[in-house]
Amino acid sequence: MLHVDLDAFYASVEVLKDPSLAGRPVIVGGVGGRGVVSSASYEAREYGVRSAMPTVRARRICPDGVFVPPDFEAYKAHSNRFREVLLAHTPLVEPISLDEAFLDVGGATMLFGDPPNIAARIRAEVEREVGVTCSVGVASTKFVAKLASDHCKPNGMLVVPADGVLAFLGPLPVGRLWGVGKKTGDVLSRLAVRTISDLAATPEPILARLLGAQHATHLSQLAQGIDDRGVVPYEAPKSVGNEETFEHDVDDDETLLRELLALSGNVASRLRADGYRARTVTMKVRLATFTTLTRSKTMADATDVGADLYRAVADLYKALPGQRRRVRLLGVQATGLVPAGAEQLALLRGERWGDVERAIDRIEQRFGSGSAMPASLLDRSKHGHQF
Ligand SMILES: [Mg+2]
Repeated sequence: MLHVDLDAFYASVEVLKDPSLAGRPVIVGGVGGRGVVSSASYEAREYGVRSAMPTVRARRICPDGVFVPPDFEAYKAHSNRFREVLLAHTPLVEPISLDEAFLDVGGATMLFGDPPNIAARIRAEVEREVGVTCSVGVASTKFVAKLASDHCKPNGMLVVPADGVLAFLGPLPVGRLWGVGKKTGDVLSRLAVRTISDLAATPEPILARLLGAQHATHLSQLAQGIDDRGVVPYEAPKSVGNEETFEHDVDDDETLLRELLALSGNVASRLRADGYRARTVTMKVRLATFTTLTRSKTMADATDVGADLYRAVADLYKALPGQRRRVRLLGVQATGLVPAGAEQLALLRGERWGDVERAIDRIEQRFGSGSAMPASLLDRSKHGHQF
């Protein structure tokens, strides 16, 4: 079992975006009056800056800090690249957040060597491909692997062999165990249980009386290094689609094409939100007669841009046989999804439309859905209820 965790992820990505920040105390967080720190570089941590600390306080203790607002689009792109590197080593990857994941590498040893070898390969590849260092814990259970990666941060690797688990866990404070929050911590400190070895030495019936049988069993087992949870691999969505049933059948091409443009835009914005690009787009047209026509097109480059999807579905629509069909339902579906981390694709394509649509995403996040749209849809929104 491996736990892989990128070091000071958001702050590290900000340094990649602006290399002049390297070596400086970089603090990513809400810059408004009530903002909190979401990530701090190790230079900033030396001043005592921590995640979840109010930004106002961080400014006080780290007056030389460089404060930047979060850029989730950049973090998501780097996170996708990170996930691709992990998936190249095993399909059993369980992402916990944008910057950490568990890996079950039991089936990968024939290809890549024993788990410490795999961990070393992953560390080198993540640094090369993502541009951010990571720390890796290697252990026979999930929670020990997680504690091990925390222990060796930043840019480290710690292997805890099965017969070394108790020695590793013993001296750690009980608060480091999953499931020990403030309340449980208070109960344990009344029992003078401070370390994990104290907990392992406490008879379970005593814990059960104060914490309930289930919680007591769980904690006792963790304290003895027992954790049988496996990796739950992430499953990528197979498709993203959107369809519209009209209140009254529609028979003019202009209206139908405008609807396809709107549907393409919705599908693209969901692809971007989920961090995918699509290779294939399918148009569905249900006629008033209930006959359903579906047509697909595979594009040269995977895309998350509505204008690209629309261009493909508009071609498909125009190639339908006959004319003046009465349409009851239109749908646009994207399949052949690939993670959007491979940024070279975007560079090859020039990204003009992508930039415009990403700006729309940001406006809609601030002002609500429908507040920004291509000019050709403005007309549709004026008569928005005619369907
Ligand atoms: Mg991290």
